[in-house]
Amino acid sequence: MNPAPFDDSHPATPPLLITIDGPAGAGKTTVSRLLAEQLKYRYLDTGALYRSVAYSILVNDIDFEDDEALAAHLKEFDLTSRPDNNGFRLFWKDRDITDQIRTPEISMMASAVSAKPAVRSFLLGMQREMGKAKALVCEGRDMGTVIFPEADIKFFLDADPHVRACRRYKEMPSKAAVTLEDISRDMLQRDQNDSQRALSPLKPADDAIRIDCTDIDPQTVVKLMMACIVRMLKAKNQ
Ligand code: C5P
Repeated sequence: MNPAPFDDSHPATPPLLITIDGPAGAGKTTVSRLLAEQLKYRYLDTGALYRSVAYSILVNDIDFEDDEALAAHLKEFDLTSRPDNNGFRLFWKDRDITDQIRTPEISMMASAVSAKPAVRSFLLGMQREMGKAKALVCEGRDMGTVIFPEADIKFFLDADPHVRACRRYKEMPSKAAVTLEDISRDMLQRDQNDSQRALSPLKPADDAIRIDCTDIDPQTVVKLMMACIVRMLKAKNQ
């Protein structure tokens, strides 16, 4: 059952570390951005990190099953982000890859390379570094379980698979090249890869607040989250 509705008598929010995990298409990105905006926090999309690694592996034609080649590639991996109106843009070796990492091919590749221990441990340090200062909303698959088990508050978003596939389909820049069925099939495959891999599988942390977003819009999800945050802060101050 979803949390109780919004209590808007919230006090000033201290710098918190907030994690949002869940499968593809559950609405994590929209909700994370809105929540970060409301709290004036930074926002970290960790899926974009895995996608960037996947993109660089694809462009450089790296055999990621070859541990040595993968380690050598990661050593040279050079990713920077620059803020823009819609959040941030990602640059790999000074090349703007923000839009290129959103293709179905890169989604599947990200899911495959994210099962590699070398990739996960390489990105773990980067993510923890960003969490040090708190005042951060971060979204991914293992934020609450592995990267930030000590987070102040953890959410897990889920939704009906068909609804998730439709949302992803609407977001696709070029609908001609891909059908709803393609998206749905790839999404279910990724759900399976991500939740069944040995390392950092997709799953809710034991102390995560679960929200089913099938029938509610992102604004309402953010209100529910704010209500949980307020409740948590009030309980802490008692
Ligand atoms: O969130 P997004 O769909 O952009 O993530 C792309 C892929 O990156 C996921 O399917 C998953 O395999 C991987 N990922 C991960 N851990 C994270 C974030 C993303 O394994 N924290």
